Amino acid sequence: MDKLTVRDADVAGKRVFVRVDFNVPIADGKVQDDSRIRAAVPTIALLVQAGARVILASHLGRPNGKVVDSLRLRPVGQRLAELIRRNVPVTGDALGVGTEDALKRMRPGEIVMLENLRFHPEEEANDPGFAATLASYADVYVNDAFGTAHRAHASTVGIADQLPAYAGLLMERELTMLSKLLEAPERPFAAILGGAKVSDKIAVIDNLLTKVDLLVLGGGMANTFLLAKGKTIGKSLAEPDRVEDARRILATAEKNGVRVVLPVDVIVAKEVTRGTEYKTLLAEKIPASWHIVDLGKQSQELMLDALADVNTVFWNGPLGVFEIPSFAHGTNAVARMLADRADQGATVVVGGGDSVAAITRQGLASKMTHISTGGGASLEFLEGRVLPGVTVLLDREPAEQPKPAATKSTPKPAAKKAAASATKKATTTKTPAATKTPAATKAAAKTASRK
Ligand code: ADP
Ligand code: MG
Repeated sequence: MDKLTVRDADVAGKRVFVRVDFNVPIADGKVQDDSRIRAAVPTIALLVQAGARVILASHLGRPNGKVVDSLRLRPVGQRLAELIRRNVPVTGDALGVGTEDALKRMRPGEIVMLENLRFHPEEEANDPGFAATLASYADVYVNDAFGTAHRAHASTVGIADQLPAYAGLLMERELTMLSKLLEAPERPFAAILGGAKVSDKIAVIDNLLTKVDLLVLGGGMANTFLLAKGKTIGKSLAEPDRVEDARRILATAEKNGVRVVLPVDVIVAKEVTRGTEYKTLLAEKIPASWHIVDLGKQSQELMLDALADVNTVFWNGPLGVFEIPSFAHGTNAVARMLADRADQGATVVVGGGDSVAAITRQGLASKMTHISTGGGASLEFLEGRVLPGVTVLLDREPAEQPKPAATKSTPKPAAKKAAASATKKATTTKTPAATKTPAATKAAAKTASRK
């Protein structure tokens, strides 16, 4: 990876601001899925062991710049405390004298979590003053929030202009795994795309069409492709204004020699609800009163067969309305198959909140090569876009000219640190804090468009 990581940073005794993505589901004051918290533990543990003072910061939900009590981070702090068996106090606010005092009292190896950053509208606005206050808490910045790296916010971009900025271990793993897909996938390489809306996925399909051998389409988004092929789809979810895009994608796939597999038969339901009437039909002429809700058996067989020999897979988007068990069969069958492929050595990467939920529900998450903690961020990365939260991290100096083997040695921490600050000065993507203008910050904020 071409970014410096927390392993390159000198953190002993330092105050380290760690942006994490602890945007997790909470119900009845309890964390319902702690995978994002677990995913950040290696970075936190490394810092604690190195004797850093660890200041954790995250957003939770969409409080839209106001204090929302149900979106306080206390349950998250409690869950993290259980996982790492350490105290994780959460401040009452990300700002204020009380918080500053609490941070000043921290001793090496201690952890404090700031309250939900998005209680302040300045966070999402990437306000320079807010970023400066966050930066004033620490000596070093670490971004481990891959799931938020596609947003140019104060805690992901603004702060990184004012402190030496490093990638956390989770960030490193995400970037390494996803880069592998774009740069050196072992073939055959398949992308499986499903989910609700084709409009969310057009850009990623466009980019992947230059990389993959096989494109498997399912879920609601496949309906727009069925329309593009002149089929009728009844009342099914579709985006008629994207039929042209679907047509173009199919034509490009053909030109690039990418095999496209669409559903040939589907489960249709009277309503998209539990307990409704449903049956299997060929995906040709769906009568007006039915909704497509899942793959049929033939589609499943066709897809499993197409995927049988793949060595690299990226999957985003369930292949049916998997929340309803009767319509989860296609999604489940593909998940089982991919778990087997991964077992046999294939690289299987899954991204997207609902896709990951579907896999987790089947107990298959640990079988996959990599489960991305970022839905939108992983898609934007695979679209070929540069994530603003990644750009601002310190670049690793290009490897030196090859030297005779005898002189090869690992640099000492002090040398690494010097290299880090030299890199920081030399990079063109970063501007010293003093010369950073609000206009430049705003321009950076604009690069994040996906909501
Ligand atoms: P992810 O979160 O993995 O990126 P998306 O958010 O794009 O996935 O899509 C997930 C949603 O797509 C699920 O709520 C699922 O019910 C819905 N979906 C899948 N297939 C269909 C379909 N045929 N009709 C309507 N909705 C569908
Ligand atoms: Mg989703």
